[in-house]
Amino acid sequence: MATPTVVLVPVWGAGHLMSLLDSGKRLLARAGRALSLTVLVMSAPTEHLAAEVAAHIRREEASGLDVRFVHLPAVEPPTDWVGIEEFVSRIVQVNAPHVRAVISSLPSPVAGVVLDFFCTTLLDVSRDLAVPTYVYFTSNAAMLAFMLRLPALHEEVPVEFEEMEGAVDVPGLPPLPPSSVPTPVTDKKNPNYTWRFAETDGIIVNTAAELEQSALAAIANGRCTRGARAPKVYPIGPVISFAPPPEQPHECVRWLDAQSPASVVLLCFGSGGFFAAPQAREIAHGLERSGHRFLWVLRGPPAPGGGRHPTDANLAELLPDGFLDRTKDRGLVWPTWAPQKEILAHAAVGGFVTHGGWNSSLESLWHGVPMAPWPLYAEQHTNAFTLVAVMGVAVAMKVERKRDNFVEAVELERAVKELMGGGEEGRKAREKAKEMKAACRNAVEEGGSSYAALQSLSEALYKGAVVVGTN
Ligand code: UDP
Repeated sequence: MATPTVVLVPVWGAGHLMSLLDSGKRLLARAGRALSLTVLVMSAPTEHLAAEVAAHIRREEASGLDVRFVHLPAVEPPTDWVGIEEFVSRIVQVNAPHVRAVISSLPSPVAGVVLDFFCTTLLDVSRDLAVPTYVYFTSNAAMLAFMLRLPALHEEVPVEFEEMEGAVDVPGLPPLPPSSVPTPVTDKKNPNYTWRFAETDGIIVNTAAELEQSALAAIANGRCTRGARAPKVYPIGPVISFAPPPEQPHECVRWLDAQSPASVVLLCFGSGGFFAAPQAREIAHGLERSGHRFLWVLRGPPAPGGGRHPTDANLAELLPDGFLDRTKDRGLVWPTWAPQKEILAHAAVGGFVTHGGWNSSLESLWHGVPMAPWPLYAEQHTNAFTLVAVMGVAVAMKVERKRDNFVEAVELERAVKELMGGGEEGRKAREKAKEMKAACRNAVEEGGSSYAALQSLSEALYKGAVVVGTN
């Protein structure tokens, strides 16, 4: 039989596309020549995303890996959508006939389709073609436990989460404050995307068994799915996309070279985080008063008509008068995209104020850097809870969710001092982050839990391969 292929269906955006591609490449490494990869590339809805996707694919193609990219025909993005999840889901649905056509005409047997988190509506296509279907969950097991529990929660909680009394019960997690539920489910009136994770043949999660034992056990024994068996979960992480180091070190890295070990707090807020002047000034005051060294990646609000993409920061407009001058010996404000992974790998970084995107959180854990989460969008409020209350690798910071996630200067100052030196909470987070660094690295080594999960996934895919349609 020809080598069975695993069909990956990513969505655009660095945190999704790269993470799914990297998990596919790890799968290939485990499976040897037993499997190949086919990646279906949906046309991106904005020029910005299209350029980003093209750059990633060029890099992958240049690396000589045995990955086949199939570009799907352009489709019209919807114009009347409510939330970003619905927008993506609708584009995915419009792509369904193209996905079906490509899978039906693949020249090799199909080992399985691996759908991004946002693409589970494509289950109708893969079910119809009788192809095993997996979902790649770019977030963590805590979030997966919440999502599997969500259909029952919708019935049990008749009001919006923010109006409910008490805590949200998610098996495997400590009581979840309603203020920590993921942003996409905070508005019941929003005709939001319905996730269909429970219908898949397996869920691949970017976490490691050692990081989230309790949530993974609750999922496995059916406590999140009303006693019904959940699909098999494969915790194969941390999956982190490491690029080869550049020939010339980045300016941020050169600046860090001149700082002493664990002396710098990094602030960086993902691909979508930005601040307008009132919040940026508050951060500046907090950092100045903390007395600590800092590397602050600051992005400005989107340009008019520029969608949701942050712009390079105009520091003169965003920062208080004289701030850069007063802090020039101990701080660097970087106004555009920064090489976050290289920065977190640097010995000078001792703490990370992060929006808590799951990729950023894993990158921080990989290097044993404790965090202070400042959630802004998506599932980051739930991640902040997980990092602080479940894993203990972060210090809590008061983020005013109802005030557009505002943080006062005095609160940032307190959190930075706690994270970088301060009291018991900071000390425990630093210790726990070191433990998690070791756990992450052991998990992906030969004999580790994620290594074993990847092996078992690769075997399940190989055994499940089916001949589809005309192939
Ligand atoms: N990132 C980066 N430089 C930046 C901002 C982000 O390299 O200035 C990277 C970061 O290292 C991570 C990804 O972008 O790999 C962001 O993914 P995450 O899941 O943390 O957040 P999202 O952008 O999806 O909200």
